[in-house]
Amino acid sequence: MSVTILVVEDEPAIQELISYNLKKNGHVPLCVYDAEQAIIMVNNVLPDLVLLDWMLPSMSGIEFARRLRRETRTKSLPIIMLTARIEEQDKILGLDAGADDYITKPFSPRELIARIKAVLRRRLPEMSDEIIELGGLKLDPTTHRVFVYRVLINKRL
Ligand code: CA
Repeated sequence: MSVTILVVEDEPAIQELISYNLKKNGHVPLCVYDAEQAIIMVNNVLPDLVLLDWMLPSMSGIEFARRLRRETRTKSLPIIMLTARIEEQDKILGLDAGADDYITKPFSPRELIARIKAVLRRRLPEMSDEIIELGGLKLDPTTHRVFVYRVLINKRL
């Protein structure tokens, strides 16, 4: 399933790298350079996830994250912060602002994709193609099949 990801990053080289890797993994990137453009973008298209740089030209990533959390429409939008800051204090500030996860720069494309996957699995299980197992219940989102203790109970949902 393709996932639309809003990328808010003011460094063109990093934005390009992220965009390339998201496309390569079947995601749809929407790239902007600052929080002001991001606000306009979110008003038009609600993404499935936001990759948000901490240090942006005017409004900071933290401020933008807080703003997303305040509004009903974007309250539960998964946010991954991109940051060069590794101080614990800063991480706590980011998590308080509503970030779901962190990626510290420089990061590998592999880590980026893995973290996106983990956040989506946690926040939007319906966006995941992975089989979900809970107790004796098994859900296969790809084939839309449900098993209880390995017995298929539906043909298709
Ligand atoms: Ca930056």
